[in-house]
Amino acid sequence: MPEDSVRPDILSVLLHLARAVESAMRWSLQGLGLTPAQAETLRFIATTRPDVATVGWLAKTLGVRHATAVGILEPLVERGLVERHPHPWDGRQSVLALTPAGAELAERLRAAEEALLEVVDARSEEERACIERGLQALVRAMVDAGLIVVAAPCAGCAHFRPNAHGPGRHHCALIDRELPDEQSRLNCPEHEPALAGV
Ligand code: SF4
Repeated sequence: MPEDSVRPDILSVLLHLARAVESAMRWSLQGLGLTPAQAETLRFIATTRPDVATVGWLAKTLGVRHATAVGILEPLVERGLVERHPHPWDGRQSVLALTPAGAELAERLRAAEEALLEVVDARSEEERACIERGLQALVRAMVDAGLIVVAAPCAGCAHFRPNAHGPGRHHCALIDRELPDEQSRLNCPEHEPALAGV
């Protein structure tokens, strides 16, 4: 069989999986009063380092235009789930933060997603490892192609200088700032995987 002949199947499986996940999540999201994009917005704010939780990075993470991201965000602001705060050092920007009600909804959302992951949890250890490796390779390919942005914590980032300012006080060479330990554990959309052996 020519190698090319598997490509249409991969696309068809990916589309099928995307629809199945969306459909499985729809009922839970409806119960929480969220659209899929609003759910992703809450997840982004809950897991992203506070100074990069901006509308600009939200738009890149969702893969939409800035104006579209604002349109997704506004109902969450109006419902009292999200608020804007001044950026800690850039006066031209503001950052997004969850209100207590938003944090509670984000926690309920996480619980709904956990239930969906039980499908994977039920597989054998070997199968779970295979699924994880395959997904990692797919994500890497899509990041390399510039199709998606994936945020990750500082560990393993080329710009991370652990304990550069003392125990638990790290440094990011990209923004040239100190990072408290708890912030280094949050997701950063500028994470750049360090090359192996470097
Ligand atoms: S660029 Fe890297 S080191 Fe800097 S904050 Fe982001 S993940 Fe951490």
